[in-house]
Amino acid sequence: MSFEVETLCDAIDKMMRKHLPPQEVRRRDATADPPDYLLKIFADMGLFHLALPKSEGGLGVGWQAMSVIQERLGYHATMAALLYNRVTCFGVMTLLTSASQALKEYWLPKLLAGEGAFALALSESAAGSDAGALQTRAEPLGSNWKLNGRKIWISGASSALRMVVAARTTAQSRGGEGVTLFMVAPDALGVEMTQLKKVGNHCSLSYDIGFHDVVIPDTERIGPIGAGFDCLKKTLFYARSGLASAVVGTGQAAVDEALVHAKARQQFGRPIGAFQALSHRLAQMQTDVDLARLITRELARHIDEGIGADRLAAQAKLVATETLKRVTEHGMQIMASAGYAAESDMQRFWRDARLYSFGEGSSEILLDLIAADLGVGRRLAK
Ligand SMILES: Cc1cc2nc3c(=O)[nH]c(=O)nc-3n(C[C@H](O)[C@H](O)[C@H](O)COP(=O)(O)OP(=O)(O)OC[C@H]3O[C@@H](n4cnc5c(N)ncnc54)[C@H](O)[C@@H]3O)c2cc1C
Repeated sequence: MSFEVETLCDAIDKMMRKHLPPQEVRRRDATADPPDYLLKIFADMGLFHLALPKSEGGLGVGWQAMSVIQERLGYHATMAALLYNRVTCFGVMTLLTSASQALKEYWLPKLLAGEGAFALALSESAAGSDAGALQTRAEPLGSNWKLNGRKIWISGASSALRMVVAARTTAQSRGGEGVTLFMVAPDALGVEMTQLKKVGNHCSLSYDIGFHDVVIPDTERIGPIGAGFDCLKKTLFYARSGLASAVVGTGQAAVDEALVHAKARQQFGRPIGAFQALSHRLAQMQTDVDLARLITRELARHIDEGIGADRLAAQAKLVATETLKRVTEHGMQIMASAGYAAESDMQRFWRDARLYSFGEGSSEILLDLIAADLGVGRRLAK
């Protein structure tokens, strides 16, 4: 690694303390007010350029740096890390791995300058884990396409520079084949959005989106016609790596908060951290977060060295998100009423954690992918 982890973390710590201090994280979570202004600050710090190859105008430092950034942002505020990932994974990596030269040349500079993020519009009400069941359809219309259908739970869609929308472009009604990706502006004619209410991740606004005869120029198509699932696979590979790193940071924040509380809170005349039931629990929580960090950093090393890592990406996302769910559950038990209070950070970590083990590929589906890589599971049943 040709960068100093500590120097990078120190710079992110300073920036986050200044621009999104803990009280501001709490306020924004309570009022569902996303910190979109951070994108410009990330850009000015060069955080988007670090991992981008030199050939694309980046600094070429690689994904190990990216993993450190995502983790450190996740430590301070998951909402900041998720925003960063919508630029780097949904935006930059979709363009680099799948888009035409023209789309890349137009959109990369905007993403790198912090002008906004991309949203990924894949899920539908009947197509969650079973993405191949999607029914949104794009039909040819001269040199354009006409898009009709409905997506659900799309994060950050209304403020996105563009949504990456998966639509069926052949007559067939299910399966991964015949799906194509398109870039759609959130304010395009025929796009209608309704914001959804939810229990956590309040600063990643989620939308139900209707597409009614939305006209998309063919130049806004990402990748070849019918190759949408191959393109999505590449985007999701980076997105899972990004999410895994981000939640390792949040997991560390949860352990740190539980530790502070366990040392300060007195019951039966001593700190509750003196009781072995809690000290062992804390020791296990830190061990779990350290293990999750190791696998996410190992994944980043594989990416930097060009070693195929599909299985490792599924494993890293599985391990990191399940770890966060476990440590926040333990954190809530250790903090008890102090964690249950609305102003506690632990309750936010705990609520937010519930999403990551099913969003961007549920743990069950990831285990399916890992099993398939081992040559067992659904593939064997065919
Ligand atoms: C807050 C939020 C933000 C989101 N953001 C986005 C976004 O930006 N873009 C986007 O496209 N989508 C987004 N989603 C959707 C998300 O990706 C889906 O929720 C996820 O894919 C799971 O789909 P589902 O909720 O329909 O669950 P289902 O697919 O109905 O699954 C329900 C349960 O069944 C299990 N299951 C399903 N199939 C199998 C199987 N074959 N074997 C074993 N178990 C199985 C699942 O693991 C899960 O536990 C978001 C969702 C939420 C809640």
